[in-house]
Amino acid sequence: MSAAARGLLTVDLAGIKANWRWLAAVARGAECAGVVKADAYGLGIEPVAKALWEAGCRTFFVATLSEGRRLKVALPAATAYVLDGLLPATAPLYPSYGLRPVLGSRPEIEEWAAYARSVGARLPAAVHIDTGMNRLGMTVEDVEAVATDPAPFEAFPVTLIMSHLACGDTPGSPMNARQKALFDALRAKLPAAPASLSNSAGTLLGADYRYDLVRAGIALYGGRAIEGRPNPAAKVVRVEARILQVRQAEAGSTVGYGAAYTLTRPSRLATIATGYADGFLRSISGPIGRPSPPAYVAGYPAPIVGRVSMDVVTVDVTDIPAALAQRGAWAELIGRHVGIDDLADSSGTIGYEVLTRLGPRFQRVYLHGS
Ligand SMILES: *Cc1c(COP(=O)(O)O)cnc(C)c1O
Repeated sequence: MSAAARGLLTVDLAGIKANWRWLAAVARGAECAGVVKADAYGLGIEPVAKALWEAGCRTFFVATLSEGRRLKVALPAATAYVLDGLLPATAPLYPSYGLRPVLGSRPEIEEWAAYARSVGARLPAAVHIDTGMNRLGMTVEDVEAVATDPAPFEAFPVTLIMSHLACGDTPGSPMNARQKALFDALRAKLPAAPASLSNSAGTLLGADYRYDLVRAGIALYGGRAIEGRPNPAAKVVRVEARILQVRQAEAGSTVGYGAAYTLTRPSRLATIATGYADGFLRSISGPIGRPSPPAYVAGYPAPIVGRVSMDVVTVDVTDIPAALAQRGAWAELIGRHVGIDDLADSSGTIGYEVLTRLGPRFQRVYLHGS
């Protein structure tokens, strides 16, 4: 590691593989696909997808064409679906990159069929039906219409029919059974194809929700999939940053922007090289509003004081031996003590956002061993 390194994001690839094996075992008869959109939730699409492949994962989901292209360069043999679906005039890019679109409307299906006919190739695609998100996917009316005029489906093979749960993280929600019933009713009107309804949470809801393929994202990365249940997934992310300065400050003086935090005792303060520009959310600022989890220096908790700045955050190291909390030492912000969901809970967001915001200034380090 270079002397200039200021922030490290360590990704435990063996842990990601273990999490995939766990979900694949839970899913049993269903295939466990890996969702690696948004640069594998901020962790690095190439190393993460390769690790998943080594564990046995063969089907992947990305959000965008450019993510799909990166995936196929890293893993040419992978089956990869693009969740965005078909933007106008992009159909030729899919076969040229070896990708499959997730078609979510009649115009997309018709455009894909027309393109497949024009090149005389049977180009595989998934079909997305909306069962309760009102976001992407065919509406009930769309499905009825293509059911009465199924000609487009003669032009290409439908390799997957999918939908997405709105409340999979809440097992008691009546939305889940409602969406499942609508999914079953609508896919009966479409050409027979393997089915997929569940993300990580849906995979854990029960066998009824797993169908032929599950689409696992957050649980692979150690995040909490289901609210209010213990999370058995291995933690795979560690975020550390250097202490830039240590100073003594007087009782009654204030820390950071807005003078929002007043010291109640003479304090030793350490300023750490991570800020909201690195994805350390400003709403973590403490102790303003919700109590925030501390940083850890040499295993000792160091409470966050004052507002998070763009590039730095200040912590109280008064109770940590001075020899350990020195200029150049490392502070752990996410890791064994404080997980992504702990940070998310204290800043009013979800683990997904904490992960996907971790910025490019962190040097990514990949652990391959277990
Ligand atoms: C992101 C996404 C997933 C993965 O969801 P997780 O909750 O991270 O497991 C699955 N399916 C679709 C359609 C998605 O957009």
